[in-house]
Amino acid sequence: MWDKIQQLRELIKPLNTFKRRKCWRCGKDLNIYDFLSDNVEYSAKRILGLWQSSMLEFHCCECFKFLKGGELQLIERILNTRKCTYCNEDIDLYSYSKLNNYLKIYELKDIWLNRKSEVFCNSICRKKYYRDLGQSSIRLK
Ligand SMILES: [Zn+2]
Ligand SMILES: [Zn+2]
Repeated sequence: MWDKIQQLRELIKPLNTFKRRKCWRCGKDLNIYDFLSDNVEYSAKRILGLWQSSMLEFHCCECFKFLKGGELQLIERILNTRKCTYCNEDIDLYSYSKLNNYLKIYELKDIWLNRKSEVFCNSICRKKYYRDLGQSSIRLK
């Protein structure tokens, strides 16, 4: 993480066209280093590329949470509970999204609304399911 901050600093230094960004919804000033820490899976170069892109609009975390909440409501209207693939307990959309908060909203939507996809009430069920799956595929050989 610290390395990436350094890399990003070095990339920004020579730029004279570095963008100042504001949240498109509430107008709050945004900081590229916050953007980096929210997207640690991207390289510093990628982060800067996205930041400088004129095609994209950014929002602050509060607005992001608000938008995500709105999206979740829409998904909930289509399908609000699913059953755990392993133990068959009901899972509600909000606890699922909290448990999997690394998922982007469109990824969550794809998984949740695809009834053939595997969903689990917690990581223990997920582990057990894949463990059993592993064993049964060994048995098949
Ligand atoms: Zn905002
Ligand atoms: Zn379960």
